[in-house]
Amino acid sequence: MNIELPDYVKTALTKLARNGYEAYIVGGSVRDGILGKSAHDWDICTNALPGEVLSCFKGLKVVETGVKHGTVTVFIGRSPVEITTFRVEGEYSDNRHPDKVEFVGSLKADLSRRDFTINAMAYSPQSGFVDYFGGREDLLAGIIRCVGDARQRFQEDALRILRALRFASVFNFSIARETSAAIFSEKERLKTIPAERIMAEMKMLLCGTGAHTVLREHSGVIFVIIPRLRSLRERGIWERTLKSISAAPADIQIRLAILLSHISDCKNPGRAAAEALRTLRYDNETIKTVSKLVSYRDCGINPDRICIKRWLNKAGEDILRKLIALKRAVMHGGSGEDIDRAERILDEILREGLCFRLEQLSVNGDDLIKSGVSEGPAVGHILNSLLDMVINEDIENHRVKLLEKAMELYKSKYK
Ligand code: ATP
Ligand code: MG
Repeated sequence: MNIELPDYVKTALTKLARNGYEAYIVGGSVRDGILGKSAHDWDICTNALPGEVLSCFKGLKVVETGVKHGTVTVFIGRSPVEITTFRVEGEYSDNRHPDKVEFVGSLKADLSRRDFTINAMAYSPQSGFVDYFGGREDLLAGIIRCVGDARQRFQEDALRILRALRFASVFNFSIARETSAAIFSEKERLKTIPAERIMAEMKMLLCGTGAHTVLREHSGVIFVIIPRLRSLRERGIWERTLKSISAAPADIQIRLAILLSHISDCKNPGRAAAEALRTLRYDNETIKTVSKLVSYRDCGINPDRICIKRWLNKAGEDILRKLIALKRAVMHGGSGEDIDRAERILDEILREGLCFRLEQLSVNGDDLIKSGVSEGPAVGHILNSLLDMVINEDIENHRVKLLEKAMELYKSKYK
């Protein structure tokens, strides 16, 4: 079996080989290549030292950002390739960053510092696959297994705990028994990992096809990250929550909203969800959307035009679509007829360009003022009343009719 490499990667490998160095693609790109998926980045490892890599690619654009750790990014055409010198990592005194890295001459040493067997293979068109740890076998059997002693590997870098869960979820793999046992025994170390790193892994974990199984089998690990989730299990709603997550589309905002819907029984579940996400350093956009979805989750969406227009006005199309998907996911096989109808009506409203926002109204504030409404709060009040009537289908969104109605309102209420 061969891995189909893009030309720019072949060029980089050939260049290093012609200069007398070993060079392989490594890590995720080999794993994805064997799985027949196209890798999203191609990492190359080599016995050339960073300075030697730079001389091999003289004349090309290079970025030396990771030179201290042995990584040089070379642009071949417009495509960046990361080329990293074979290295091992020194002591880890902080559960995460090695105190130093040391360049080594052997590919095997480099592969042995990698996290999982499926990520510890190398490949080059000349040498074929290099697989010292049974990565290919684990990959084909669907198993995530640490390279070396699992406890020690998680003690060195606790982020690997979440990486294991993430890969298991994304590939729908199982986790080898000793690796899983080590995950449980070392899970408290996750508290030392920066929130941003946790968030990035959680995103992939939650959206993976195996999310349900991974979350169910490793609930205790997730509770270290978001302690308030523990109460869901105590209240008997954890399993149902996980089922809903896996029934939802792989959209992080929808899945987070389901996960965080019940973390507190306070009156404002949206705020509780937002707090949890803020602690995990999620971006404002995600926090805003998720907290809205959580707040709206139990509100009805009737399958009639007026109700849907009201929803569009209040939430906007994006959030309403997500809310519909969320409601469908939490129904668990219940009849989704109403929610399907609601969605069809939503499509219809948008297709027909019906008015549900002030900006879509056929009159604006200037029009009202020109017609004699005095500037001030009356303008906004009248526009909102008109919008209300248009949404309710009490009046058409027709300029002349709206102006007539506006003057009527103005005379009766504001003059
Ligand atoms: P992705 O598809 O998410 O990019 P990946 O396996 O390529 O997955 P990267 O984070 O890009 O993951 O890392 C590249 C490679 O570096 C991994 O395949 C693995 O060999 C190694 N690696 C990454 N993070 C760690 C870690 N925390 N501990 C040990 N090895 C790691
Ligand atoms: Mg990668």
